[in-house]
Amino acid sequence: MNRETVIGRLKEYGLGITQPRIEILSYLMENHVHPTVDVIYESLLENNPGLSRTTVYNTVQLLTKCGALRTLCIDESHVNIDENTMPHAHLLCRECGRIIDLPLKGISVEKASHPFTMDGNMIEEVHQYYRGLCQECRNKQNK
Ligand SMILES: [Zn+2]
Ligand SMILES: [Zn+2]
Repeated sequence: MNRETVIGRLKEYGLGITQPRIEILSYLMENHVHPTVDVIYESLLENNPGLSRTTVYNTVQLLTKCGALRTLCIDESHVNIDENTMPHAHLLCRECGRIIDLPLKGISVEKASHPFTMDGNMIEEVHQYYRGLCQECRNKQNK
């Protein structure tokens, strides 16, 4: 991932530039796998021996609070991190455990991108979760 792109994204959200923020955000922008904090930490450790799990956790928390990342609670045993902040739906595959991006249904991306009211309530984030079998696992089963 181009360092300038990552730095630009941090600036866009009004965030200061630090090495861990650059490392973590680049990893997420390169790996669209909705990783957990542990996966991010373990993947970065090799090239960043001084990195601590707490730093990764705190950085992810901060980036999420600023809106630069989103957290998913589709899998009750893990919190997954998503760098794609455009509203979209997710499928959790019961076979391989991957979380796959899908388009939203029943609401436009434009509407879901901004707070809107529904029956007098203020909706700030739209999450659509599906559970099932991904295309790859379906193909394997059909063989
Ligand atoms: Zn699958
Ligand atoms: Zn996603």
